Amino acid sequence: MNAAAPHVVVIGYGPVAARLVDELVPAVRRGEMALTVIGEEAAAAYNRVLVADLGVGRTTEEAISVSDPAELEAAGVTVLRGARVLRVDRARQRVTLADGPWLGYTSLVFATGARPVVPPLHGLNPDPAAHSPLPRGVIALRGLDDAAVLRGAVARRERVVVLGGGILGLEAALAARDEGALVTVVHHGPHTLGRSIDAGAGHTVAAALRARGITVVSDARAVGVEMGAGADGVPAFSALALDGGPAVEGALLVLSCGVRPRTELAEGAGLATGRGILVDHSLQAHHDPAIFAIGDCAEVRCLDSSCADCAAGTGPLGLIGPGWRQAEWLAAFLTAGAAAAHPLPAERAPVMMLKARGVDVAAAGDVAAGPFDDVPGLAVSVWADPEHGKYVKMGTRSGVLAGFISVGMPRTGAELTLLFERGAELPADRSALLRLDGPDAAPASPDPSRNVCRCAGVSGETISAAVAQGCSTVPEISAATRAGTGCGGCHGDLKALIEAHFAPA
Ligand SMILES: Cc1cc2nc3c(=O)[nH]c(=O)nc-3n(C[C@H](O)[C@H](O)[C@H](O)COP(=O)(O)OP(=O)(O)OC[C@H]3O[C@@H](n4cnc5c(N)ncnc54)[C@H](O)[C@@H]3O)c2cc1C
Repeated sequence: MNAAAPHVVVIGYGPVAARLVDELVPAVRRGEMALTVIGEEAAAAYNRVLVADLGVGRTTEEAISVSDPAELEAAGVTVLRGARVLRVDRARQRVTLADGPWLGYTSLVFATGARPVVPPLHGLNPDPAAHSPLPRGVIALRGLDDAAVLRGAVARRERVVVLGGGILGLEAALAARDEGALVTVVHHGPHTLGRSIDAGAGHTVAAALRARGITVVSDARAVGVEMGAGADGVPAFSALALDGGPAVEGALLVLSCGVRPRTELAEGAGLATGRGILVDHSLQAHHDPAIFAIGDCAEVRCLDSSCADCAAGTGPLGLIGPGWRQAEWLAAFLTAGAAAAHPLPAERAPVMMLKARGVDVAAAGDVAAGPFDDVPGLAVSVWADPEHGKYVKMGTRSGVLAGFISVGMPRTGAELTLLFERGAELPADRSALLRLDGPDAAPASPDPSRNVCRCAGVSGETISAAVAQGCSTVPEISAATRAGTGCGGCHGDLKALIEAHFAPA
């Protein structure tokens, strides 16, 4: 190692930090850089997206691990696990660890992620600095420990209460129900997924949840948690108290009330923060070129008030794909320098897709207006078939898709997703899209340039090339191309591409 080599220190060892570290390993091997990654969790980085799957026993810790500390150490990376950075001293360019020692840095990367919001309910301590913030029988599904608690409740087929009707709450509820738990979803709006879909779609989703045996309590205001004697006599969660309604009993409460970027360390160091740690298009912190932020903790908002991308920005997206793209971009920036790096592309508006077996929901963009609302320039079409759990809404401006909802119509939803991401025009006959899910629909022949894995941004062409070179299973494709390493929603498509390749033979 060149003694004058820069020292890059990464705070956080989640999936986004792990991607950055992977991309920097070649520079470490060449002796061009010293690299230290510091993670508070005892485990090596894992794919947090799959924590609910882990919690219901559909996958294992080993399968969701995305980093191998022994391999990294062998390459010359210093990996500190179970270590928390307590303070950043920007004047001296060093970080202090919770147990005392400090480390100097040339470049410092915040990859501190986000933490779940603990709602202000009687009996819960919402302070993240509290030593044991949640009582026994209450979890916010984010880490391996939470998954282990959910696993126990599902295995014992206990009653699980999910507080929050957003996408992560519904995914956890559906997975737990599918694996045998009794599940109640409690949420405060008139329908679930209230931020992403309209009332018609909300009713359709609620009916799908009820058909799966999930109890849905809407328009509810939770006010406190009630504790009783657990099976071993130790006090544990027993019911969720509601304002003006009967308490909802259960053995486990899963809080799913949103996440908040972890910015407190950056704030303590005097860095500018908004909803996340504020960085420019080079992922550099405002006013400190030695500091960067990526992933769930980072908010890209530059200092140019006329920047259209930043004006449209809504804060950290809380999605793994954008974090991985930032990690890859930053690795190129740190190794090749500013001159060599292409500008970081702006992220497109995200498409919300529910990951659940047999409940297909996708939505994006502007979906609030109805077909008869007078919104200048917006044309809205709606088709609803509540009896069969199907609902589609499409809103266009000058023929271009500005927003959509698709429930119970997987092919239509996939096509609308593609059209939305491309900013494409819809066919004049909108019913053509609905027919994609009809019994006489022609088999789809997908555009090979389309991204099959949206988390890792891998196209059908790249996957087909990997299959042609010998990959014949999803894990092999993932190892070769990174497709399928995020939310896993594309695994069916990966299998279809493998089958299509081998079908003629
Ligand atoms: C149940 C669930 C389902 C999800 N589903 C999807 C999905 O379908 N699609 C999708 O795109 N995204 C999904 N997400 C979101 C996705 O997991 C996050 O976008 C992703 O984990 C962000 O990665 P990150 O590395 O930025 O942050 P994190 O994963 O939060 O990791 C940050 C790490 O930094 C550590 N850390 C923080 N502060 C310090 C400190 N001071 N010192 C040392 N270490 C520190 C934390 O302990 C943590 O290990 C889901 C998340 C959950 C919980």
